[in-house]
Amino acid sequence: MPARSWIGSTGQIWKLGLFYFMMLTTVALIVAFILAVNGAMISNFVGRFELAISFVLLGVVSLVWLSLSIRCPKCGSRPVWRMLRTVDINSWLVKLHTMNCCPECKQ
Ligand SMILES: [Zn+2]
Repeated sequence: MPARSWIGSTGQIWKLGLFYFMMLTTVALIVAFILAVNGAMISNFVGRFELAISFVLLGVVSLVWLSLSIRCPKCGSRPVWRMLRTVDINSWLVKLHTMNCCPECKQ
């Protein structure tokens, strides 16, 4: 593994951190939704429908965030967007962490 990944050396690791935070929140909302469906009272103000909409929207927003925010400072390409379309769904995140150059311009 290289000493410093591309995502780290281009100063974009915080964008990945924010993505993980949003994904964790999405998982928490899914758990709350499952509890609500099974009759556990969570809140008088938030219903099952609101929970379902929230986790679907947040899941989509976090992926869009990662796709659009991570850019190559050299060529301006968005490698996450490309990886989501071309790399296997189970390995794109690993590849994003470990790649040591931009997949477009190789810098
Ligand atoms: Zn590039």
